[in-house]
Amino acid sequence: MPQDQTVLFHSTVFGPIRSRRLGISLGINLLPDDGKICSFDCIYCEAGYNAQGKGSTGLPPREKVASDLRQTLIRMKTQESPLDVITFSGNGEPTLHPMFPQIIDDVIAIRDKYYPAAKISVLSNSTRITDPAVAQALLKVDNNILKLDSAIDTTMHLIDNPASPAFTIDNLIPALARFGDKCIIQTMLLRGTHRNHTIDNTTPQEISALISAYTRIRPARVMLYSIDRSTPEENLSAIPRTELLSIARKIQDAGIKTQVN
Ligand code: SF4
Repeated sequence: MPQDQTVLFHSTVFGPIRSRRLGISLGINLLPDDGKICSFDCIYCEAGYNAQGKGSTGLPPREKVASDLRQTLIRMKTQESPLDVITFSGNGEPTLHPMFPQIIDDVIAIRDKYYPAAKISVLSNSTRITDPAVAQALLKVDNNILKLDSAIDTTMHLIDNPASPAFTIDNLIPALARFGDKCIIQTMLLRGTHRNHTIDNTTPQEISALISAYTRIRPARVMLYSIDRSTPEENLSAIPRTELLSIARKIQDAGIKTQVN
């Protein structure tokens, strides 16, 4: 049985938290405060499975995102708190918010006013990058971090559970390649079992498929990471850091800048 999970973020703006990938990060959650909405249903999702429901609070209006962020940044500035990055993550997929492009413009303007040196990052599962308005918005941020957990369809489906059957590696890789070095690819490496299927996206076949996908995409860099907290599928294990580093070396040998978080 999957273990109980609670939604991690109970507000639109949360933190700042120290992120192992991004530094001191203030989070923006464009999803409900009390539920999860995502076009994936990853077996490792720290927010739990989609089955927990969408909650009752709905998506935060554009004006609330702007005013919550402004107030938080004013308070942080008064306290002279450091800030490296404003990160869109939260209880699901941020690009599903219908005002995502407008919100990106607002957040850039607010960042420029209060913390001009802070970066803006979006953690996205890549399901909405073929929408031109979403793609254009993602091109405006400093760190456009897009998910690719496996370049083999069966494995990607087992790990990420995309809601749309049209979401396939064949469609995804050219869409990611259109961003080229205007994106960072993030890959979660893990091993375990899920519904009686063995999952391991670190096998030689998986890594070779990932390397040829990265080579087609030519991202600014690849971020490799593994499980760090409890996951809704209990039968998963983290990949040791030494192994992540050895996989990273193989990717780097193919000419792709790679970091391990
Ligand atoms: S894409 Fe992100 S938010 Fe959505 S299920 Fe996967 S890990 Fe969770």
